[in-house]
Amino acid sequence: MKEILQDFSHKELIALAEELGEKKFRADQIYLGLMQGKKISELNVPAALRAALSERFEEEPVHILETFVSEADGTKKYLFRLADGNLIEGVLMKYKYGNTQCVSTQVGCRMGCKFCASTLNGRLRDLTAGEILSQILIVNRSEGGNLKDRAVTNVVLMGSGEPFDNYGNVVRFLRNVTAEGGIAIGARNISLSTCGLVPEMRKFAEEGIPLNLTVSLHATADEERVRTMPIANKYKISEILDACAEYFEKTGRRYIFEYTLISGENADEKHALALAKLLKGRPCHVNLIRLNEVKERSLHAAEERVAQKFLEILEQQGISATLRRSMGSDIGGACGQLRYSRIFPDGKIP
Ligand code: SAH
Repeated sequence: MKEILQDFSHKELIALAEELGEKKFRADQIYLGLMQGKKISELNVPAALRAALSERFEEEPVHILETFVSEADGTKKYLFRLADGNLIEGVLMKYKYGNTQCVSTQVGCRMGCKFCASTLNGRLRDLTAGEILSQILIVNRSEGGNLKDRAVTNVVLMGSGEPFDNYGNVVRFLRNVTAEGGIAIGARNISLSTCGLVPEMRKFAEEGIPLNLTVSLHATADEERVRTMPIANKYKISEILDACAEYFEKTGRRYIFEYTLISGENADEKHALALAKLLKGRPCHVNLIRLNEVKERSLHAAEERVAQKFLEILEQQGISATLRRSMGSDIGGACGQLRYSRIFPDGKIP
């Protein structure tokens, strides 16, 4: 693969232009074009400069191969083709306050959570910062958005991959996506979800990026958590809670826990009470969601009635919580349903 021009910050593009013997305003033109979701061949610069860029950089790091629209709720799922032929998925959800795009950070995932389709075939590779950013730039463009009037207003790093298993690229992406003058999505409109990689959570608290830190908890005791999340062998819930507290101390941002309700596993009243006890007094919010079933897995969703009861108990115990409705499940676009595949050399999609 060639290099990815969308990995560069505006400042780095200015240095690149200089390296190529070009004036600063050419870097500004390139930056503006890229942020508008343009390919190299569409950039509004002299043909010779476009040719020089094409030699070294990918024409289109992320391409929308197909779009699926949910009949139930209008959610869109995108099948993206990367320059090396890998295929990843992403989702755009429409809400009253704006549109939220769910982006992937890796091709696959190696965390091995038992309820999730993204990890079924392991991790193939990390995405670069520019590949993560390009998912947003091209969806914004294809939805008719521009830099002033964005079609993508919120971003969640909740697609395939564990963001903190690709730490450097993800932090670079966050700096570039929030940068003034670009697509400029505010950190407060971004949520990063992690399965709880404690050292990276600690490191991230130092970066000074005040986003919505979200942790996938899904259990209240380590010996239960390990049944569905292998990462629980490595980090204890108590360590995760300490890292969250540190994040709050450094950023002033409350944090969020994701709790997927799985029948016969973590959805009983006793689990709700244990969760409330664990989180009482902490500056956090709980997002409950009923499991989206994955055909290769034998786990089942807790019933709606059970989920409502779980929510009620948390609220009675003074815990801030919401029960999220699942979106895009009819197109395989809901939480835990995103996958990857690959275009083989004959061009066929398996
Ligand atoms: N790797 C990160 C980012 C994934 S975010 C993380 O683990 O947080 C996706 C969210 O959906 C996570 O909270 C994940 O635990 C949850 N999830 C995975 N599979 C799911 C499923 N089948 N149903 C509901 N939620 C699921």
